Amino acid sequence: MLIGLRSVVALPLLLTLAGCSPSARLPSQLTRVPGVAGSAAPAFATETARHADNDGVGRTNQIPTKTPEEEAIRPDHLPPVTIPGVTNASAASRFTNDWISLETWSELNHVPSPRRLMSAPDLIYELRTLGGVIAITAGSHVARLDGISWWLGYPPRFAEGGLWVQALDAGKNLLPLATLPDFPTDTNRVVVIDAGHGGENTGARSVADNHLEKEFTLDWARRLRPLLETNGWKVVLTRTNDVDVSLADRVAVADEANADLFVSLHFNSGARQDQSGLETYCLTPAGMPSTLTRDYEDDVARVFPNNAFDGRNLQYAVRLHRALLEETGGGDRGVRRARFMVVLRGQNRPAVLLEGGYLSNRREAQSIAGPEYRQRLAEAVAKALRFRNEAEGRSFTNATNQAP
Ligand SMILES: [Zn+2]
Repeated sequence: MLIGLRSVVALPLLLTLAGCSPSARLPSQLTRVPGVAGSAAPAFATETARHADNDGVGRTNQIPTKTPEEEAIRPDHLPPVTIPGVTNASAASRFTNDWISLETWSELNHVPSPRRLMSAPDLIYELRTLGGVIAITAGSHVARLDGISWWLGYPPRFAEGGLWVQALDAGKNLLPLATLPDFPTDTNRVVVIDAGHGGENTGARSVADNHLEKEFTLDWARRLRPLLETNGWKVVLTRTNDVDVSLADRVAVADEANADLFVSLHFNSGARQDQSGLETYCLTPAGMPSTLTRDYEDDVARVFPNNAFDGRNLQYAVRLHRALLEETGGGDRGVRRARFMVVLRGQNRPAVLLEGGYLSNRREAQSIAGPEYRQRLAEAVAKALRFRNEAEGRSFTNATNQAP
């Protein structure tokens, strides 16, 4: 079950040019999507201002780090656009309606040209990238990386004989996945595992055995801790017993530990009892609508501290989501975006929230009630965070153990 706060103190828009180098203007490549018969121009936008981005995407491998949104320029003659949730004119002026064709994006990033999947009834294009095969479908928010679902901010559009994606999707979704590393090496190997809920904050109740989400998340965290430690991580838990830790304190725990990664563990609950499967969340990039908003405001103009890690967030989320699907055999509800989760958005490090199944679905609740399933959840997270070079992990563990 997801958690968030409706009323929060507005953070300043952390817009700086730090870390960004001037790039060539390519208005002909990043422009409004050509008209498509029968559909109006989209009334949404992308952020063109650059903000601090130390997510390390550019250090992962050979693919050029130039991102389309870095190059997105709003021509002066374009009229202001309407952006959901943005009423401030100066904030709105930071956004444009830029789109980029997959063909152009591929050329810019040295990826082979997109290939249409002729066997599918839908308009699906595949990109063969270093990070895996990315499949994009016209008109659909759901895209895939090697078969794993993830959500775009805007449905791609078919025009001029090809598929076009919104510029922010190109920079914040396509690029991190196209450059998905085997494993991030730029980590200090300190991870905070956050067992969701606790104390009076019980979370959802299982329809199978009446046990509470807070019990299952703590059990998951306890099973996970030794597995990660064996793999060379220093592990800090936000809670080790049945106490209610505030969302701000969970972020503070990670700051105190100087953690390089934050993983929050939850189980889902829905009004529909047939709803089931696994979901993985990370913070929505600024300028992009969230996959999930529920009753919370989704002001696309807001920039949170964790947005500095947009690329890494998605890369960790996909790794974790893939491992969860593989280990549990659960349904794939995709890597999704939300910006109301306080435990994610305040983080000064990559942060991911996992939903390990639906306690409101009888079949899945029965699985969750069994320790075997919860062990598989723990094994999945550990597998996703296993170092490529196990010797690195062992030497780190030894060094940690020898510390006074
Ligand atoms: Zn929850």
